[in-house]
Amino acid sequence: MERRTRIVCTIGPATQTRDQLMALASAGMDVARINFSHGTHDIFTRIIEDLRSVEAELGRPIGIMGDIQGPKFRVGKLTGGQVELKVGADVWITAEAIVGAVKDGKVLISTPYRDFVKDVAVGSSVLLDDGLMALKAIDKAPGILKCKVVNGGILKENKGINVPEASFSAKSITEKDYEDILFCLDKGLDFIALSFVRSSQEIRHLKRFIETRGKRTAVLAKIEKRDALTNLDEIIDASDGVLVARGDLAVEVGNERVPVLQKRIVRRANLRGKSVIIATQMLMSMVENPRPTRAEASDVANAIVDGTDALMLSNETTIGRYPIESVQMMVRIIEEMETESLGHGASILYNEWELPPQGQLAIALLQSAVRLAAVLKAKALVVVSQSGISALLVSKCRPKNPVIAITGSLETYHQLTLKWGVLAIYMEDMESLISQTAVFEAVGQRLLAQGLCSTGDRIVITAGLPRLAHGSTNTIKVHQV
Ligand code: PGA
Ligand code: MN
Repeated sequence: MERRTRIVCTIGPATQTRDQLMALASAGMDVARINFSHGTHDIFTRIIEDLRSVEAELGRPIGIMGDIQGPKFRVGKLTGGQVELKVGADVWITAEAIVGAVKDGKVLISTPYRDFVKDVAVGSSVLLDDGLMALKAIDKAPGILKCKVVNGGILKENKGINVPEASFSAKSITEKDYEDILFCLDKGLDFIALSFVRSSQEIRHLKRFIETRGKRTAVLAKIEKRDALTNLDEIIDASDGVLVARGDLAVEVGNERVPVLQKRIVRRANLRGKSVIIATQMLMSMVENPRPTRAEASDVANAIVDGTDALMLSNETTIGRYPIESVQMMVRIIEEMETESLGHGASILYNEWELPPQGQLAIALLQSAVRLAAVLKAKALVVVSQSGISALLVSKCRPKNPVIAITGSLETYHQLTLKWGVLAIYMEDMESLISQTAVFEAVGQRLLAQGLCSTGDRIVITAGLPRLAHGSTNTIKVHQV
């Protein structure tokens, strides 16, 4: 059977030629992520074109995700590109646009966020480069935050700055973000991931922004702030999915809290019927080595047991020496878990689903179809799905049978790349089929043509009939091909 847990690969210098993109996709990439924290629109334009042509060549969908930087604070330019921070040394941080350097025995660095000095209280810890280095704020002067180095190291320009204790007044979606979002909409990207989300309002705002421009781009909330944990359920409900962004999350809450939070976020997303991705350092040592550590292999495997829909590679595929091998390794670990049926971590959940009361009929129907397919050992469970919602809910039941979603919507076809265990088929003329029999016959013929079943096989089909409208599933058919 097809692999069911999905793989998201971040594209970067190690993977951005067409040949490399083809190799990633052939190895198992389901979704490509372009990261607006690095790179230019010109480069992304070419990558997106190449991805669409790779997709056409392979004949299966590849989703494209634009990851929006959000209010991430970064170290500005540094003379020589880096500076050494020695324990106990003085570091002054300013929002003035200066090139950082050592001056009169002090390290001067800048950050582009104007209210940085105002928003950070004296006594706070200021973490640099994902927490590798730490400063303590000891005093303020006009426009300057005076700090001392607690944990030293070599600081490179453009590295992140986190202040877990501060509540920043910075806008959640910056001017740059809006330009990047418009670029994503213009290029027809399938997903937009928003970084450093704090509340559901930000997500609702972004969704309205997208809708008023006539687009259906799915919105994913990156969970990497304390406030996002407080508002977790509302954020999940407002978005199309969430991403467990373990990199910044670990800096914000401490490494020791990440495993339990990962489990909580995955469970909440599954209970509320939304997609979930686990990200960052999944096979980190493969940036340098052809093989992961045992701990990393276990981490990937256990993320599947937690019930995630997808796993993400970051540095492994952006700057790593073994990007293709990383995807192949991830595929092998997933396949091992799935042959042991350990890839069904969320299957017990659907009696406990916490879904809104509307659509209860469709939900009960889909769950029944899952049971029916299991009892009949049906060759496939086919979901005719325009919006993709019914395919998502079926996926959340983690059925043992292959799930095939048939859709007449190209957006849905692409967005299904993130759904656990769903094989998407695009059928252009779907909506023109009026009678139930015509739909069932067309579905059977298509599966036959794609070699997904043989004549005489039994399949279970769900659909919203007589008209194939959004969210209107009302029919289950046991069909003999
Ligand atoms: P990033 O997000 O790679 O954009 O920082 C993921 C994370 O923080 O883990
Ligand atoms: Mn992050």
